[in-house]
Amino acid sequence: MSTNRRDFIKFVVAGAVAAGCPINLTALPADAKTEVDGEHNEICHQVRDGHTFTRPASSANYDVVIVGGGVSGMTAAYLLRDKHFLLLEKEPHWGGNSYLEEFNGTPYATGGAFLELGGNAAEFSKSLGLEQLPIANWDGMILNGKFVSDCWGDNIDKLPYPQSVRDGFVKFRDEVLKMDVMGRAKELDLLPLTHFTKGYPQELTEWWDNYGPSNWGAKAAETSAMIALWEVQNIGAKTRKDDRVTLPGGIGALNRRLSEVLTEKHKEQLQLSATIVAVTQQKNGVDVTYVVNGELRTVTAKAVIMATPKFITARIVEGMPSAQKDAIKKMHYIPYAVVNLIYDKPVFNSGYDTWCPGGNRFTDFIVADWTVRKQAGYKQKYNILSCYTPMEADERGYLLTENGSKMIAEQVLTDFKKLLPETNVDPIEVHIYRRGHPMYKSLPGNFTKVQPLTRVPMERIAFANTDSEGPVSSTGEGIKAAHRAVEEVNKVLAG
Ligand SMILES: Cc1cc2nc3c(=O)[nH]c(=O)nc-3n(C[C@H](O)[C@H](O)[C@H](O)COP(=O)(O)OP(=O)(O)OC[C@H]3O[C@@H](n4cnc5c(N)ncnc54)[C@H](O)[C@@H]3O)c2cc1C
Repeated sequence: MSTNRRDFIKFVVAGAVAAGCPINLTALPADAKTEVDGEHNEICHQVRDGHTFTRPASSANYDVVIVGGGVSGMTAAYLLRDKHFLLLEKEPHWGGNSYLEEFNGTPYATGGAFLELGGNAAEFSKSLGLEQLPIANWDGMILNGKFVSDCWGDNIDKLPYPQSVRDGFVKFRDEVLKMDVMGRAKELDLLPLTHFTKGYPQELTEWWDNYGPSNWGAKAAETSAMIALWEVQNIGAKTRKDDRVTLPGGIGALNRRLSEVLTEKHKEQLQLSATIVAVTQQKNGVDVTYVVNGELRTVTAKAVIMATPKFITARIVEGMPSAQKDAIKKMHYIPYAVVNLIYDKPVFNSGYDTWCPGGNRFTDFIVADWTVRKQAGYKQKYNILSCYTPMEADERGYLLTENGSKMIAEQVLTDFKKLLPETNVDPIEVHIYRRGHPMYKSLPGNFTKVQPLTRVPMERIAFANTDSEGPVSSTGEGIKAAHRAVEEVNKVLAG
């Protein structure tokens, strides 16, 4: 990229991160324009670092206080709309890990991408008036300058590898298709995927090292075999139908709708930019202390739903049983950036989600307007490509600063340009949305041994958030967790 061209590329940095480590600044463009947005982790970091906040006397009473305004917390609020609830969210917007943004009217995702047709999340969308559109396109891959569509299905024997490696992929798929993965789920959940890739070409493990972190936060050696083998049976099945659905902007479209529906009738019960610092169970209620507009406030609820990720929940909720705290300590979360490359001309429209193994900074990229681009009368104004960029825990510090984030964005762009001759063009803008701990790793045993312990309700406190359920972080599991938590608090309210 020429220096002049860089002047025109705007890096927009948004989101929240945590923790810090040194940053190599040498790869940074000195002259890139930068806009910084978001970053609301200061108070959470103070909680992490053991700061004690004063607790003002309670100033209001509620039936239920819900902490966290991602899909799980918002779903809980929606289910409790006949109750006197209060929903609190630390960011200045709703949506958590699935937050939709727009570029000149074209929506794009900064996180969650698609849902499963007929699954609880798609059905919930439908009930809110959002009919999700079919993707109908099995994932492809790009390697060695070659794009192959439907890489685990029709074109598995055309993968851009030597013949012996292709044979290894086919054999692995066929062996996995014969397995009773569901029947052996408990046993398979305790084993890493690499237990089953032994003896196959190294490229197979590398493929899963690329696919896993984007989908469930973990490379092959750390992935529960149950999850990956299950996935092979889905993407590699001999007879199959792509049952994924989405809207432009991904799952953020659902979260936006949900926030609109809640705001319509319950505006006074919704509070953004409110960071909870303490949740204390008392004899007849729960005190919730939070910081809003620089002030500490305490409210009291008959019951509380914690829809925040567990590593935060464990720090905020006082008196949590040690078995629960120990289980939460076993959960690990990765940093994750989504880099949106915005083009004012078509660059890549050949597949919805394309995997890019082979050491690129990102794992895969998604065409933002895939589901509408073939509709009559639709004209693609911008070709927005969302590059999914899961990162290692020790790289988290890069996302903590504007320069570190820009460096990641530039690495993504550099690698993207090398993929194919047609991708070697300059975008008009590059946006990076960074998150410090958005996705938990689906480690062996996480689903069967750890998560059940993390969600045990305390007397008046129930635990939602996708990380309560499993086996992977997903919108559907966040919604499921909300239903369970609402059931639990309804029992408390019923006395
Ligand atoms: C890059 C990426 C891609 C994904 N793709 C998909 C996909 O294609 N399909 C799919 O189904 N799922 C996908 N997921 C997973 C899905 O997005 C999540 O499972 C889901 O959004 C989780 O929702 P949640 O409400 O449980 O948690 P979150 O979205 O994490 O919500 C928790 C909320 O709590 C808030 N919070 C935290 N601490 C505090 C505090 N102290 N006080 C107040 N508020 C606080 C946070 O700001 C946040 O808004 C993806 C995730 C990522 C990161």
